[in-house]
Amino acid sequence: MQGHTGDVDVETVRMNDGRTGGAIQGVRKTALAGLSIEALTDALKPLPAFRAKQIFRWLTRGVRSFNDMTDISYMVREALDKRFSLYSSVISRRLSDADGTVKLQLTLEDGCVIESVLLSDDEGRKTACLSTQAGCAMGCVFCKTGAIGFRRNLSTAEIIEQFLHLISMGAIANVVIMGMGEPLLNLNALREALSFITGELGFSKRRVTLSTSGIAAGIRDLADNGPGVRLAVSLTTADEPLRERLMPVTRTNPLPLLKETLIYYQRKHSKRITLETVLLRHINTSHKDAELVARFADDLDVAINVIPWNPVAGMRFEGAALGEPDRAEVERFIAALQKKGLNVTKRFKKGRGVAGACGQLG
Ligand code: SAH
Ligand code: SF4
Repeated sequence: MQGHTGDVDVETVRMNDGRTGGAIQGVRKTALAGLSIEALTDALKPLPAFRAKQIFRWLTRGVRSFNDMTDISYMVREALDKRFSLYSSVISRRLSDADGTVKLQLTLEDGCVIESVLLSDDEGRKTACLSTQAGCAMGCVFCKTGAIGFRRNLSTAEIIEQFLHLISMGAIANVVIMGMGEPLLNLNALREALSFITGELGFSKRRVTLSTSGIAAGIRDLADNGPGVRLAVSLTTADEPLRERLMPVTRTNPLPLLKETLIYYQRKHSKRITLETVLLRHINTSHKDAELVARFADDLDVAINVIPWNPVAGMRFEGAALGEPDRAEVERFIAALQKKGLNVTKRFKKGRGVAGACGQLG
C-alpha cells in the first residue's frame, strides 16, 4: 500500500538447495517436506530408519537446509543434499510489515506463484494463513486473487510446505485457510494436508479455520466427512441480487441453499460458524443490509466478522471505483447487527503494508 513502503523490508531469500526464484535446472530432486515418517523412511533407503526420524523432526521445525541438521554428519548431509531437496517450493520473496506481518511469496515447481502470510496479534500470537489454489476461479469483484483468475489446485505437499516455511519464523498458534483460492474446490488435497498438520505435526483441529465463499456441496461434504475444523463463510451481503453481482458463486449457490446447508452442517457439528462480511463503501453497509445479514443469521449459531475492505488499486464495481468504508459507516453497521443480538468482531487490518491482508493476495 502506498505510504507504507518505508516500513517494508524486502529481501530475496536464497534457498537451501541453491535454487532461486523458481529456476528449474537439471533433474528435479525429490522433496522431503510433507512426507509421513513411513514415506520418508522409504524415500531415504538405504539410510537406516533412525535417520528418517531425525530428518522428520527437523522438517517439522521448518529447517532451512540439510546443513542445519546438526545431529547428522557432514558426509550424510552432503549425500542427502545431492539426492533430495527439503521443499518443492522456493521462497522467492519475503516481505515484512512493521506490524509484524510476514508475507512469503512461494514459487512452485512449475513457476506458479502463491502467497502465505504469518500474522501477529497484539500479544504476539501468530496465525498462519495458507493458500489452497494458485489464483481463484470464483471472481469476487472486491478480491485481488479473484481478479487474477484461476491457475491450478495446489498439491497436498504444497499446502503443507506453506505451514512448514512459516513455522521456521515462529511458533504458530492458529491456522486459517484464507489465502489464495477456494478451499472447498480443492478439498481432497486440503484434507490430506490438514490430516498431516493435525496428525503428524500434532496441531489442534480447533485452531484451524477454513473460509469458503459458500460452496454448498463442499460444506455438505465437510459436514459428512470432516475434517472437523472451524468453518467461516464469506457472506458479505445477504441481499441475493447484490450478492450475485459481487460474488458470482451465488448464481450456482443461492442464499437459501447456502443457509439450508449451514443448518445441516450445524446439526452435525454444533460448533459456531463465522460469517465474514467485507464492507464496501456505500454498497453493502446500509441499515437494510445489516437487517438482511441478521435475518440470514436467524436459526444459526454464528459470530459475524466484519472486514472493512482492504484497498486494491484499480478495483471497480459496475463502473465505479470500490472504496473503503469510513469509520462511522463501519460502526453504524456493527451497531445495527449488535442491536439484533448478534456477536460481532472486527477484523484487524494487519498486513496491509505488504499487501498481505485479506483479499490483497495475488
Ligand atoms: N476464498 C475463501 C478464502 C480466502 S478469502 C473465501 O472467499 O472465503 C478470505 C477473506 O477475505 C474472505 O472472507 C473474503 O471475502 C475476504 N476478502 C477478499 N477480498 C478482500 C478485500 N479486498 N478486503 C477485505 N477482505 C477481502
Ligand atoms: Fe476467491 Fe475468496 Fe477471493 Fe472470492 S474472496 S475470489 S473466493 S479468494
